[in-house]
Amino acid sequence: MLLYNSLSRTREEFIPNEPGKVSMYTCGPTVYHYAHIGNLRSYIMEDVLEKYLRYSGYDVTRVMNITDVGHLSSDADTGEDKMLKGAKREKKTVLEIAKFYTDAFFADCKKLNIKTPEVVAPATGCIDEFIRVIEELIRKDYAYAAGGNIYFDTSKLKQYYVFNDFKEEDLEVGVREGVEEDSNKRNKADFVLWFTKSKFDDQELKWESPWGLGYPGWHIECSCISMKYLGQKLDIHCGGIDNAFPHHTNEIAQSEAFLGHKWCNYWFHVHHLNTNSGKMSKSSGEFLTVSLLESKGYNPLVYRLFCLQSHYRKSLVFSYENLDNAATAYRKLVAKIVALLKEPAGELEQDAFDRRKDAFRAALDNDMNTSLAVTALYDVLKEKTTPATKLALIRDFDRVLGLDLAEAAEAQIRAEEEAKAVASADPFIQEIEALIAERIAAKKAKDYARADAIRQSLSDRGVTLIDTPQGTEYKIQ
Ligand code: AMP
Ligand code: ZN
Repeated sequence: MLLYNSLSRTREEFIPNEPGKVSMYTCGPTVYHYAHIGNLRSYIMEDVLEKYLRYSGYDVTRVMNITDVGHLSSDADTGEDKMLKGAKREKKTVLEIAKFYTDAFFADCKKLNIKTPEVVAPATGCIDEFIRVIEELIRKDYAYAAGGNIYFDTSKLKQYYVFNDFKEEDLEVGVREGVEEDSNKRNKADFVLWFTKSKFDDQELKWESPWGLGYPGWHIECSCISMKYLGQKLDIHCGGIDNAFPHHTNEIAQSEAFLGHKWCNYWFHVHHLNTNSGKMSKSSGEFLTVSLLESKGYNPLVYRLFCLQSHYRKSLVFSYENLDNAATAYRKLVAKIVALLKEPAGELEQDAFDRRKDAFRAALDNDMNTSLAVTALYDVLKEKTTPATKLALIRDFDRVLGLDLAEAAEAQIRAEEEAKAVASADPFIQEIEALIAERIAAKKAKDYARADAIRQSLSDRGVTLIDTPQGTEYKIQ
């Protein structure tokens, strides 16, 4: 499988550290608000990657943190803690906010068929781990205390800006976004590992540490949680592209300084979902959630299809018009599968199955080209083969795509049957059907006068008969 690696800026053959096994880490949500559909784009594409690795036979262990402390309003170390802002906004405690939005996040994931990782670790549950790693970083002289906080000293590294698409001068904290500079830092790019002093002293959650009562920085959380559950060598680290700097850059700095060797081999970054008016964010602009889409009548899996139709390394513009197109595509796919399910299944044709499966794999092996994988699904429907083969392929692909197309088709057939059962219990419907049967018999007996009289009498009662090659249908006005 070829996978683009942000670290080398090339598509590389994916080779895990241990044959057959993949360790995968995902930056989880900051649970101070609902996830917006931009956040969920990242999780959908990461879910497809995980599912495709499993589909390819790898034994995947995936870990995700929940950021319930330490993520300040800027991705650098400035501003108020986002969790505290959320708690104030809703007049609740930080832990209440964290619980509420963590549950909301996983409820959204469930609706979007995003699998829950094997390990989900809230940052507040790993404080001892953070302290242990920070102590070691101080011991190794990669970290220093200043003004009550512990900072990582980026000047100790051979190379700090590892995702080298970036220009140093654009990224230096302090220059960026006019953020006020922290005079405790030895170098502009240094970042906080542990806070005991911040301008915002009303931090609700604090823990005892060798440096006093305080709380961890955001970046240290992901390094420690990943190392705790996945060991010293990580295969794939995922996240949205905004996290490449400073978050992932800082994760690499800390982890490799701590370990003394390379930590993570592949960096998988999903590009942003934007609106026509620009970047989507939880704190400003349009705040689009899964519940909002549902309230407008969209099936969340239509949004999943919308995401799969684009490559994860291209930014994607959200509009209701584009979502409507995905909804139409979803409906048509389901209708085609309904028709397939109603046909005699026939035998599975292995040649056709293998050929179509190869096309699907080729698409995903090429740096997760999900839009071509969706095309491979359309090609299955066009293939000259038996319904049994097509349905087997659709179900097989759905282990990765997670669109529940066959399930939606089955549900539609069940609903049609239930509607029929309800209708056939209605005496008026029973009378119509009896008259239709009598009309067919009359036509067979060449009694056209009786056949016409039945049509007329039904028409007088608001029932129109339509003769089709499949039989007589009716419409009630
Ligand atoms: P957060 O909850 O803010 O920590 O972000 C959760 C995930 O969503 C991270 O991986 C972010 O990089 C990602 N993310 C944030 N905004 C967007 C967006 N507009 N499109 C895609 N991913 C995003
Ligand atoms: Zn992270």
